[in-house]
Formats: sequence, structure tokens, C-alpha cells
Amino acid sequence: MTVITANLGFPRIGKQRELKFALESYWAGKSTQDDLLATAASLRAQNWKLQQEKGIKIIPSNDFSLYDHVLDLAVTLGVVPEIYGWNGGKVSLDTYFALARGGKTGTHAINCGCNSTSNENGVPALEMTKWFDTNYHYMVPEFSTGQKFTLTDNKPLNEFNEAKALGIHTRPVILGPVSFLRLGKSKDAGFDIGKTLNALLPVYAQLLAQLHTAGADWVQIDEPVLSLDLDTKDHEAVRNAYEYLTAKVPELKILLTNYFGTYGDNLLTAITLPVAGLHLDLVRAPQDLDAALKIARPDLVLSLGVIDGRNIWRADLRSIAERVKTVIAQRGAKTVQIAPSCSLLHVPIDLELEKKLDTEIRQSLAFAVQKLEELAILGTALGANPQTAEAALKRSDDAIAARKASAKVNNPAVQARVAAITDAQTRRQSPFDVRIKLQNAHLKLPLYPTTTIGSFPQTGEVRQARSRFSKGDLSATEYQAFLEQETEKTIRWQEEIGIDVLVHGEFERNDMVQYFGEQLDGYAFTQSGWVQSYGSRYVRPPVIYGDVSRPKAMTVEWAKFAGSKTKKPMKGMLTGPVTMLQWSFVRDDLPRSEVCRQIALALRDEVTDLEAAGISVIQIDEPALREGLPLRKSDWANYLDWAVTAFRLSAAGVRDETQIHTHMCYSEFNDIMPAIAALDADVISIETSRSKMELLSAFSDQGYPNEIGPGVYDIHSPRIPDVEEMVDLLEKASQKLNPRQIWVNPDCGLKTRGWAETRPALINMVEAARRLRAAV
Ligand code: GLN
Ligand code: ZN
Repeated sequence: MTVITANLGFPRIGKQRELKFALESYWAGKSTQDDLLATAASLRAQNWKLQQEKGIKIIPSNDFSLYDHVLDLAVTLGVVPEIYGWNGGKVSLDTYFALARGGKTGTHAINCGCNSTSNENGVPALEMTKWFDTNYHYMVPEFSTGQKFTLTDNKPLNEFNEAKALGIHTRPVILGPVSFLRLGKSKDAGFDIGKTLNALLPVYAQLLAQLHTAGADWVQIDEPVLSLDLDTKDHEAVRNAYEYLTAKVPELKILLTNYFGTYGDNLLTAITLPVAGLHLDLVRAPQDLDAALKIARPDLVLSLGVIDGRNIWRADLRSIAERVKTVIAQRGAKTVQIAPSCSLLHVPIDLELEKKLDTEIRQSLAFAVQKLEELAILGTALGANPQTAEAALKRSDDAIAARKASAKVNNPAVQARVAAITDAQTRRQSPFDVRIKLQNAHLKLPLYPTTTIGSFPQTGEVRQARSRFSKGDLSATEYQAFLEQETEKTIRWQEEIGIDVLVHGEFERNDMVQYFGEQLDGYAFTQSGWVQSYGSRYVRPPVIYGDVSRPKAMTVEWAKFAGSKTKKPMKGMLTGPVTMLQWSFVRDDLPRSEVCRQIALALRDEVTDLEAAGISVIQIDEPALREGLPLRKSDWANYLDWAVTAFRLSAAGVRDETQIHTHMCYSEFNDIMPAIAALDADVISIETSRSKMELLSAFSDQGYPNEIGPGVYDIHSPRIPDVEEMVDLLEKASQKLNPRQIWVNPDCGLKTRGWAETRPALINMVEAARRLRAAV
């Protein structure tokens, strides 16, 4: 018995973030194209060799990308909109980056959660959006009616040959044609996926044929749309695509790969395709195994995704080995491969780089390199000499047992408190119409009250002070004094221009999740756990390893300080439980809903502490609420139910007089409107300026009863909106909503902006509010 180990994709960024630095240096004009390409080639070579050394039998190629693999395929197939001025042939690196980042002055918002692209002059970048339910963002291909495809330069082939020259035979990874089309968009009304697919397939087949000629025997074709709800047309497209490709290039074996969820009702279509292999994500969808075993042809290779490619926990190798053994017993080892559940792109590279992590927590973790090691151990355990894996299996057993028993993980007080949550705790004392009267009496705000979303510009000076403090070049007292000074200046300035509900500016915060995570028990932080978010932007998500609790108040001192500097209402600012969860690696030994409730309880205490400290407006940001939506519609209700409950739990401990705000910087609410209403926040601020208030219809159509701050200007761009423009937007809003409901604020926090544009923009915003009041 031997079972083949396979990897589906390895992180591209380099252990020391080499790719980021090479890209940014190239973009800044500090290095040449050759320098950049040399770094890229060396990263690929390192990755291939590493996987070989770890004993992985099937090693992927073309999993590398300079920016994004969806963009790579678009460029490979000549899907380049006209405005980029491409005239056929190989797409130049500059055009590639123009598609990715916009021409000339493309700027991306930094860590605001909105990931939006804006561009002042030159060509805009392609739209960017989240890759399924990950925090990776891909560039959205833009198709036109009658879209033509042509093989510009065969990147999969180039990288296959590059590995071959190093003596490594790889299995190229390519995004599948149906996913490629489904993930793209078209401005044209008449755009038809089926027709476009017919135009695409011959070129796709040509690409595959070239790979086969070069010596590839297998390719991994990723069709993650098989984890989504598909309609009959999609099913037809999948069938057509794979019947066509297998007929055109019959000797090249295709491993059809789906990940991030269950095949569900797409399984029958997928498993009856004439492909040579099918990958199952058995971490997200363990139930797919039995379903597939029942109906798979005997010679269909099943790739079992048994190692979690989405999370950082060590696997329970013994139980996985047992499970795979039963599959082998049933089908024979020849038709079984073991693999991570999906590409390892979504986990940090190497745990060895973590020098400061608590040893007990470290023991429970596995990053990409460690996951390859786990795979190799499984390979041995399922091989000819299983006893040689025994010591490693024993270490896995011990680590699993230690984690279960760990006092760091288990906090009985937190568990008891979660178990005792009552319905009443998730409800404010009185309904909104009662509360708002009390709040108005207390806050005495004008119509169209003005506020901001929380952060003010994180200038070079602020970031420098933080970094000097963390290096020890600035003492705690000096740093504190600096922050107080910035905060006070910002408060004075808001008073001066006439903002109604002030904020303190969030200068003391590095990141809206990290800042809280660092103060909570149950959270850990890595030094080098970088994961690609988009392009050269990487994030280091916090790790929720244990029961979450709040050893002491987190923001009260700052709120008190800020509150003492003004007579106006000062808004307390918190990151909500769903966002705290969504932007972290979450422990896999508890349901996410339960972890979320733990965080909610910790925040609830913070909210009531703020109230006790005299803060009567408290904003609980939930920019990640929507992105937590499950891939399948049938799972939405359950998610929204626990997410909304967690938010309410965090917010509902206050008196009626205390006003709870929330903020979400996106614009699609139509399909989740009942959940948004169920949050029962007194005020919600949302992103609306780019859609010109269109999306407010979702609120007005459904008679949304509470107050709303529709963002009146786009903070992703340095452009300064003038008064008329904002008046216009507010007038539009006033037609859709009752003017009494409307707040006036920007789309999101201002931390990525400079003061030069923030000052005039907010002055104009306040003036716009005044004009509306005058017109009432
Ligand atoms: N309060 C945060 C800020 O203003 C909100 C950020 C966000 O919505 N992503 O920066
Ligand atoms: Zn926002």
C-alpha cells in the first residue's frame, strides 16, 4: 500500500516577504523588470525544492503569481479590456500591473477593510473582490459580448518547463474555464456564459495541449465554483467544458479540483465528468467522502483534502490515517491521493520563523511547511512501512491531547458565562422609538447630525512614533504624551469646524482587530505569519486559540481622556464580535458561533464600562459582517442568526439613553436587510457615496426604522468633494428616508487619508449638513 501525497498550491510571497519587497521596489522605479523576474524565479525554485525535500510526490506549478492567479489567466487568454491599449501578443508587465493597480497613480486603501481601488488619472485598475470566503482578493476579469480569446503567452507551460529544467516534474494548476467566467463580469447586457465558454474552450485546449507536448501528464484544474449554488446553465457549462477538453487533449489527465465547501448538489455533475481525478475538500465537507465513494467510477482518482489549507491548526494525523485507510481498503491505493483541502496560499509559510510564540500554543499549530510535513507523515503511515511513522503519529497524538487539556485554551468561567446567556441579554431595554426620544433629549443634536467613522489620518509621524515606541526608541511616557497631543488637536479641530459627535481619532490603534486582540485573553499574534490579502498587501491575522475574555478595560482610559477634552458627545469606538472573528484564524475545536459569543461578552463588558465612564455614544464596527456569509444560500440564515445575536449581545447591556452606532463599509444590503434591521443599532453608517445613494433603497423599501448615516464622500480617494456634491447626495437621501433618520458622515474611517484632503473635505461636509438643516 502506498498512497500518493500531493500539494495543490504553495504560498507565493516568500518566507521573508521577498515578493512584496521586489514588487514595491519595481513599482517605485528602484529596480528593473529583470530584478523582479529573478526574485520571482528564485521563489518558485525554492518552493519546488522545499516540497521535494519534504517528500511530496505531486508538486504544483503555476501556483505562483506576481499579483493574482485570476489576473494571470485573464492575461494568458488575452482578456484585456480595450482601455489598457493592448495590441495582441505577449502582455507586457506594465500592462499587467496597470490591470492590477491602475495606470500611473493607482492607490489602494490600506487596511480599512474596504479594499477598494481608486485612481485619479490614468486607467483604473480592474475591480477587485474577495476570493470566495477567504481574505484573498482577486482581480475581476472583464468580459465583453463577443469576447475573443487568444493564447498570448502560456504561463502554465513556462513554469512547468522552468521546474522541469530544475529536474522537478510538476502538476500545473490552472483556474478552470467555468470558474474563470463565473468569477468575471461584463458590462454588456447580452453577455452569455455559455457562448463565451464556446469561444474560450479552443484556446484553453490549446494551452493544455502545449503542456501535454512539453511532458505534463496531469493538470490540476480548479473549479471552486462547484462549492457555490449553481443553476442548470452552469451545470451544462461544466459538462460541456470537460467533455470538450478531455476529447481535445485525451492523454492529459485532469484532476478537477473544488475546495472551500461541499459539492452538494453539484457532485453528480462533477463526478460523472470524463476527468481522471476529483478533489474533495474533506475539512470543510467531510460528508462529501461517503457521497463520492458511493458513485465514483472505480478508476476515478480521488484526491482527499485532509489537511486544513484554510487554518493553522495541527492535524489529528492518526484519525486521518484511519479514515484514509478505509478508503484505500475499499478502492485500492492506486486511486487515492492525499492533499491539503485547498491551496496553502491562505496560511502563513513557516512556523519555524515564530520565535516569540508561547510554546504551548506553538505546539498546536502548523503553517504551510508543517502541513507538508504532516502530509508526508501520512504518506508514510499509509505506505509500505507504516511503523516508521509511529513516532511522528505519537507526537501528533500528544499535541492534540495537550491542546484539549490546556489551561490556556480552557477557561471554565468563560464557558459557564456563554452557557448562561439569556435572550434578555440580547435585547435593549426598550424598543427604538422609546430609546431615540431619550437619546435625543440627552444628546440634543441638530437635524442631520455630523460625525466621522472613527479614525483620523495615520500620518507618517503617527506611524513613526508607534514604531519608535515598539523599538524602545521612545519611552512609554513620551509615546503616551505624543498620542494625547494628537488626540487633543484632533478634538479641538472637530469642535472648531462644528462636527456634532466627535471621535478621538484612534491614533493609539495599530489595526482595528489587533488592537483589541492584543488586550484579550485567548488571542495570540505571530511575528511572521503573513498571508496574501491582495497583490503586495499581506496581513498577519491574529490567532484565536482559547476561550476569549477581557482581563481589563481596553478603551476606557482613552475614551475618558478624550471625553474630558470636550463638552460635545464623544463617541466610543469598538470593533464588533463578528469582525473580530472574521479577520482572525479561529480555533477549530469550537463552533465559530460560540467563539463569537465569547468575544461578544468581552465587548459587552467594554460597552457597559464605557457607559459607566460617561460615554453616551458607542460605535461597534462590523465591516466584516457581510463577508462572513456562507458560500451557500441555504446556510445564510443560520450564520446571520448567530452573527446578529452576537452583535446584539455586545451592544444590549446599556441604558436606553446610550446610543449604539454600528458601521459597515460596503453597499450591498438588499439580501441581508432583515438581519441589518435585527442588529437594532440606533444608528448605522454605511458606504453609499460611490453608488450615489442608490443602495439606500434597500433601507427605504423595507421601512428601516432606525437612524442611518449614508456616507457622503468616498474616503478611498484623495479627491475633495465640494459642498454641492454632498448636498446633492443628502437631498437624494432625504427623498428616500425621513430627514430625522439621517446622519452626515464619510464612507469609512480616515486613517488612510492625509490631513491636507481631510480638512477641506470635512469642512465641506459640515457646510453641506448646515445647508440641509436650513432648507428644512
Ligand atoms: N472605526 C474604524 C475606522 O474609522 C472603522 C474602519 C472600518 O470600517 N474598516 O478606521
Ligand atoms: Zn469602514
